[in-house]
Formats: sequence, structure tokens, C-alpha cells
Amino acid sequence: MLGPGSPQPPQAAQQAVCSARGCRADGVFALRWNNPAVHTPERRKTWLACDDHRTSLSEFLSMRGFLRDVVPLTDLREHAGEDGQRDAEGDAG
Ligand SMILES: [Zn+2]
Repeated sequence: MLGPGSPQPPQAAQQAVCSARGCRADGVFALRWNNPAVHTPERRKTWLACDDHRTSLSEFLSMRGFLRDVVPLTDLREHAGEDGQRDAEGDAG
């Protein structure tokens, strides 16, 4: 059923903690990256970053040429994209 207007309760089971080493803060940004050496081009890995680590983590990935996208976590939830999930990507437009 794809009826509109059926709000779902938020899932509290999954903890979204910053991916920085030793950091226990809530991740508020999703850093989406891809390592061309080991990942297919459309593959996306996701790191979470708190406000403090957003810059350092994205620089880490950026320096290696891995960084593809930095999006607010709230934005990511809208798309419900999960790492490793296969999307049927057609040409849109
Ligand atoms: Zn952090």
C-alpha cells in the first residue's frame, strides 16, 4: 500500500554515533564515500559525523579522493538509503 498520510514511528533501535575514533557524540552528518579501488562506482559507504568531526572526517576522505557527498542525517533518512542496498537505477528524466 502506498497510501499517503501514514506516519511511522521513528526507529530508535539504531544508534547513530559519530564514526570518528573514540567519539561518542551523535552523528548529525552522513559522509558518503566510495573507494574506487575496492568499491564499484555506484557503491556508497556511509560514515556518520558529529558537528565537531564533520570537517576532519570529510577532509580525511577528501584527501584520498573518496568523498562523494556530505548530507545532513535528516536528509539521508528521507531517502532511506542503506549501505549495501541495491537500488534499481534507471535513467531519470
Ligand atoms: Zn565526533
